Amino acid sequence: MTFSRRHFIAASGSAILGTAVSGISSSAAAAFSQPKLPYDLDALSPTISARTVGLHYGKHHAGYFNKLNQLVQNTPYADITLEEVISKSNLVKDQSIFNQAAQAWNHNFYWAQFKGGPQAPTDSFKVVVERDFGGMDDLKKQMIEASDRVFGTGWVWLVNDNNKLEILALQDAGTPLALSKIPVIGIDVWEHAYYLDYENRRTEHVRAVLDKLVNWRYASEQFQM
Ligand code: MN
Repeated sequence: MTFSRRHFIAASGSAILGTAVSGISSSAAAAFSQPKLPYDLDALSPTISARTVGLHYGKHHAGYFNKLNQLVQNTPYADITLEEVISKSNLVKDQSIFNQAAQAWNHNFYWAQFKGGPQAPTDSFKVVVERDFGGMDDLKKQMIEASDRVFGTGWVWLVNDNNKLEILALQDAGTPLALSKIPVIGIDVWEHAYYLDYENRRTEHVRAVLDKLVNWRYASEQFQM
């Protein structure tokens, strides 16, 4: 596992995991805590409405942390980092813990990639995109096509695999961390991410997120890590 805590903190944009949550007795292990949303609920509107962000962050993402904290109580998972929980639960096929931990982490990354608003990629990242995809438009086109390949719930990830950009279409709680690849962009294609705003028009949603929300400077920085 090559993903450091430093990487996670940079990716999450703020909070440090592993801090105690009030309401858990002092004899219990420290709980994993959901990072604060790094902007207001309406910051992604109109591409993603405040209502969707409120439910997605406040119910779905929070729910993954709540369930994870219930599952890890009094287990060795309670004393390691979130990334380590993902790696270890994946290794031993502890599916219920993996699902909650991976979704908790995936959403930390998801919210962070929109922080700062849509910004252009760095010149060096554009060179890599041209080398691996032909250009930014081609990259987005291939990510949209990948989203169409996800049957049901899942994620489309742009990752750094040995300094080469690669697109992954993963089911359910699929995460690059379990594949030892470095996430650069992660698009949630679960219905809860878009249905209130786009109904069944998932492709339109993915295109809008890539064009109007992703901070490509942030993506550029993830690639370099
Ligand atoms: Mn989600």
